[in-house]
Amino acid sequence: MARTRKPVVEVRRSQRRRRTVSAYREGERVVVLIPDRFSRAEETEWVERMLARLAAREERVQHTDEELLSRARRLTARYLPDYVRHVSPASVRWVTNQNGRWGSCTPDDGTIRISHRIQEMPDWVIDYVLLHELSHLVVPSHSAAFWDLVNRHPKAERARGYLEGISAASGLVLADD
Ligand SMILES: [Zn+2]
Repeated sequence: MARTRKPVVEVRRSQRRRRTVSAYREGERVVVLIPDRFSRAEETEWVERMLARLAAREERVQHTDEELLSRARRLTARYLPDYVRHVSPASVRWVTNQNGRWGSCTPDDGTIRISHRIQEMPDWVIDYVLLHELSHLVVPSHSAAFWDLVNRHPKAERARGYLEGISAASGLVLADD
């Protein structure tokens, strides 16, 4: 299972904060924001507490490879029922080393990789990216036949717009190959 490693924690003290403590993930690190007046003991206590809370929240969301694979099966059954025999990926995995792409597929060996960057996006966007890659197992190219499959998802167009918007805002060129 992922996330058994203890994350690197960066504590940031703020004079404007009085009581509130918050924590969020920033890349590989966890940033914990605490009031400046906290003692070292309070800092230690709150860092532990926030890490536990963060872990619990991420556990609920369940971004595991198992969840991703069952999501792929559901999408295949729903949108590609006529291609079930073509669409049986050898593996569907979350990856963190795929900075230029939301997802990728190698039709030759049937492997699909989905960027962890989309984990916090809405479900229909994750579904779109996954369906896009699953459709490549039927049609490797971005031909009209390929888009006919992808566009079976009712929000395919909207999801493309959503992803383009994020690419533009981040200044990154992120292809959805
Ligand atoms: Zn593609």
